[in-house]
Amino acid sequence: LRLCRALPKVELHAHLNGCVRPSTLLELAEECSRRGLLSLSDFQAAVIVKEDRSMEECFQLFGLIHLLTTDHCILTRITKEVIEDFAAENVVYLELRTTPKRNEAVGMTKRSYVEAVLAGIKAASTELSLDSYFDHKEDNIECPSQRYQRKANPQIHVRLLLSIDRRETLEAAMETVHLAWEMRDLGVVGVDLSGNPCIGDWETFLPALKWARQHGLPITLHCGEVPNPREVEAMLAFQPERVGHACFLESPDLSTLLANRIPVEICLTSNLLTNSVQRVRDHHFGALYNANHPVVLCTDDPGVFSISLSYEYALVSTHFGLSSLELLHLSRNAIEFTFAEDRLKQMLQSFFDGAKYAAE
Ligand code: 5GP
Repeated sequence: LRLCRALPKVELHAHLNGCVRPSTLLELAEECSRRGLLSLSDFQAAVIVKEDRSMEECFQLFGLIHLLTTDHCILTRITKEVIEDFAAENVVYLELRTTPKRNEAVGMTKRSYVEAVLAGIKAASTELSLDSYFDHKEDNIECPSQRYQRKANPQIHVRLLLSIDRRETLEAAMETVHLAWEMRDLGVVGVDLSGNPCIGDWETFLPALKWARQHGLPITLHCGEVPNPREVEAMLAFQPERVGHACFLESPDLSTLLANRIPVEICLTSNLLTNSVQRVRDHHFGALYNANHPVVLCTDDPGVFSISLSYEYALVSTHFGLSSLELLHLSRNAIEFTFAEDRLKQMLQSFFDGAKYAAE
């Protein structure tokens, strides 16, 4: 695990409210309980104590978490903390996602929700980016020890995806994709479709997803989290830029995925804990990796599942026998599948290549 923690990593599938520190949730729950808004003991039973949850229970838990993360200041705080936690894990590029929510009680619109999240990203970047490794290329050549130091503290680059929740209306989804486009110069780089896969029909959101595509926004879809061959077939025919999970893909959908080389965001522990996959060694990561299909290891909801991205790399190393160099390649390859601008991708690739020489 120590080696996996030191490895520079790329996280492409992390839901903001699924990443909140348990200590912060508890603090917020205590505050809400003091104000008589919820029962602390119920909250503790659901969030802190229970570790093996079904998928339905996970979505109920998100309902509880959402009760706590309702105002702008809290959103800014949790975003900043989430970024600090990923940075401490040596994540050098984080693509965080969240569903913009309205909350009339505190004057929150979808736009002000995203602004609060962006404020958290800005606050974290200001504090964490000591010196940019890439701004000091010449120093690095002249002073290798300084270079090593900077590599030990790489800057984390954060971009945001706006999620459509399957419980939403098409109108709400349209508002989200319009916001994503309007905020594309502020760090929003794409659109996601998520939420309880047993609710709603993804085709409801097709006009919003098509609008996003027409306006150049890349799209990732939660696909095949539960058995639903009709939906999986239609989602793959849409050719999203990436898909998340992809647990229940049978032939011919699997062949379509492979033929189109659609990158898969692998959420191994999440799939195990929500019973989409029974054992690590049965996880489709193995087959996709061996078929040389584009895959990227991700956490999904590290706060909810009490995991880290380093833990996911360690899991893959233990159960699928990847060497440290193979883990580094796996992580580096993910850069290509990010929705980041080309310049940042190139910078990250150079950074990884430096790390590769150090590892060899
Ligand atoms: P938020 O968008 O509120 O920041 O993050 C929590 C939300 O992300 C949940 O309410 C749900 O819509 C989505 N989410 C988190 N984990 C999962 C998952 O494993 N599968 C799906 N389909 N959606 C998820």
